Amino acid sequence: MPLVTLKELMKDAEAKRYAVGAYNVINLEMIRGIIAGAEEARSPVILSFAEVHIPLVPLEVIAPIILAAARQARIPVAVHLDHGQDHEILIRAMQLGFSSVMFDGAHLPLEENIRQTNEISKIAKALGVSVEAELGKILRPEGGGAEEEIEEYDPDDVYTNPQEAQTFIAHTDVDALAVAYGTAHGVYLTEPVLDFERLKLIKELTGLPLVMHGGSGLDEAAYITSIQCGIRKLNYYSNMAHEVANTLQAKLAANSAQQHKSYYHDISRWAMEAVQQDIVRTMRIFGSAGQA
Ligand SMILES: [Zn+2]
Repeated sequence: MPLVTLKELMKDAEAKRYAVGAYNVINLEMIRGIIAGAEEARSPVILSFAEVHIPLVPLEVIAPIILAAARQARIPVAVHLDHGQDHEILIRAMQLGFSSVMFDGAHLPLEENIRQTNEISKIAKALGVSVEAELGKILRPEGGGAEEEIEEYDPDDVYTNPQEAQTFIAHTDVDALAVAYGTAHGVYLTEPVLDFERLKLIKELTGLPLVMHGGSGLDEAAYITSIQCGIRKLNYYSNMAHEVANTLQAKLAANSAQQHKSYYHDISRWAMEAVQQDIVRTMRIFGSAGQA
């Protein structure tokens, strides 16, 4: 199955009203566990690498591995750069063969976000790469402060403004739009309140495939309603990372309780299997299982 663009994946998801999971990867176990999960569920998938994870593994090292795994997969895979802010890194990802990039200009004033999104989009379109943009503030920054309390806020100040979204898409050429309607990056400490009416209105006004960031650990109904309202790409990482760590902890503890020795290659295999299991579960909820 060839490497595909986000645009291609979004076309089918839009037509059949499901969401494709975008899973952040930082190592081989995650890459292989996710592909195995997607093949088991017969689901399209997005392998995502976040700019904030570059200190863990250089882009030039992990990119060829992600791309090789994607090209060998039996299901369609898009390879995506998550939360790209540095233009140089976005361009490097495209040169390395990523089929999709996210330019995160959500912290910028609207006009500047439009200007910089267009700068990236122009290069991406020339190379046949898809573009995701972001509007509104997703609670808690990507990759950091995962356990911090979310401070009091006024939804109108932080959530995506539907009229601004309409203006944004009229002046840009993007394939998907990340929106803020109450989700947060990291693991949830309290039950989030999601603004579905806002989400529906944004969908109506833009007609674009919408992206949920902070898709970890919501209840099943929140995912399903979000997808009914127009979410087509669902970023999911923290919960998976946490589940895998818990599994490894339990297995290592069980081994030492039985006086068995543990070896790193066992840990590697357990990690892959734990990723696969969690991924298959999410693909069934997102409706992408059986679509590839
Ligand atoms: Zn995000």
